[in-house]
Amino acid sequence: MIAPMCLFCRILEGQVPATTVAETPLSLAFRDIDAKAPTHVLVIPRRHVPDLGELAEYPDELADVVALAARVADDEGLDHGYRMVANTGAGAGQTVFHAHLHLLGGRELTWPPG
Ligand code: AMP
Ligand code: ZN
Repeated sequence: MIAPMCLFCRILEGQVPATTVAETPLSLAFRDIDAKAPTHVLVIPRRHVPDLGELAEYPDELADVVALAARVADDEGLDHGYRMVANTGAGAGQTVFHAHLHLLGGRELTWPPG
């Protein structure tokens, strides 16, 4: 039996709709379906790995995800500040086990996040 693809792999394949905001040959940025801030974009590698730490095995792809998030922050005018978040593991709120960065901005972001 062929294992079903994860949700973000299905978005990458165009099988699940998403609002793309930017892309590179290695990464895709699209709006989170349940936005927690005026700008809430998910930036994912095209490669399926379960979390951002695992993506460190592929340094060019890790750098591409971070650079694309920074570019989207610039495009969205988040000059007052923004946050890149990588929830890792169920205990930290990770629900989709395909590496991703949350890019959050457009409102005051408190610290610590809770
Ligand atoms: P995490 O909880 O860190 O794994 O983040 C997963 C994120 O994916 C959550 O913020 C969800 O709101 C978001 N999400 C789930 N399904 C979709 C979808 N179909 N399109 C866009 N974002 C999604
Ligand atoms: Zn995947």
